Amino acid sequence: MRLIDGRAIAAAIAEEVTAAVADLTAAGTTPTLAVVVPTDDEATAWYVRSIERTAAKVGITCRVDKLDHPDGESITKHLNTLSADPTVHGIICQTPLPPGVTLDHVGAHIAPAKDIDGANPASLGRLAAGLPTYAPATAAAVLEILKREQVPLTGTRAAVVGRSTVVGKPAALLLLAENATVTICHSRTENLAAVCAEADVLIAAVGRTHLISTPHIRPGAIVIDVGTNPTADGGLAGDVDPDGAEAAGALTPVPGGVGPVTTMLLMGHTVRAATNMIN
Ligand code: NAP
Repeated sequence: MRLIDGRAIAAAIAEEVTAAVADLTAAGTTPTLAVVVPTDDEATAWYVRSIERTAAKVGITCRVDKLDHPDGESITKHLNTLSADPTVHGIICQTPLPPGVTLDHVGAHIAPAKDIDGANPASLGRLAAGLPTYAPATAAAVLEILKREQVPLTGTRAAVVGRSTVVGKPAALLLLAENATVTICHSRTENLAAVCAEADVLIAAVGRTHLISTPHIRPGAIVIDVGTNPTADGGLAGDVDPDGAEAAGALTPVPGGVGPVTTMLLMGHTVRAATNMIN
């Protein structure tokens, strides 16, 4: 089994994004990403710092708007303001949100042209309809890794474990758009291992440490592990047990797989949004 180097893929994308940012900046527009943070959650703060570092690396301006004591109304008002601000090209809203507030609700207030993490339900609808849009960056990262690894998708059997709006469903739609034959699995799927073992391409987006192991993996399968599960020692573990994935053809590690590609694609999407806005 070969480990896929997500950091190397992110570095290759960074080169392309840095060049595009330089061109846009020279033409008078510095791509600008606004990160709305309506939480004091420490894991979110860590993720936001990594977005800021990545933006700085490629020359994108990243403004972090921390909202104190937010409620649904103040978040949507802020997102409306950013949506109307011509100096902002990409907008993401971090979670967790206050009790009773859903990402679907606040995401609907991110202008689709700036919705670079696919949080507006309209963006997912456009993805389902095969129209140009931004897929959530994590789902886009899954496809980007498969493409850069030159994994053939047309006609292959793909299984996605997880059906969330942010990862599982959009990843399945993107695979379908590449002509894979896609099965979506979830907590009610019967005989999960047997369904997964049919797949040439297996995407694990569950949030259960090492749920996916030897019985789930078809020999030679390409396995993309989206899971980021905190470990007792402060680290991260994936949804796939690496010791049980020996038969796989390739596996993305956790950390160092999908995560760095996701963050870099937020930058790529911001550049695309800025380019579209000036053209
Ligand atoms: P989520 O909203 O909790 O969805 C989890 C999905 O897994 C649900 O569809 C659930 O099924 C399914 N599931 C739960 N237990 C299962 C089981 N035993 N067998 C089969 N399916 C099961 O999680 P998410 O937001 O999609 O995130 C999934 C994982 O990806 C998490 O570890 C998260 O931290 C990680 N993640 C990583 C990145 C990144 O950039 N690397 C970004 C986002 C998320 P039901 O629908 O039936 O409940």
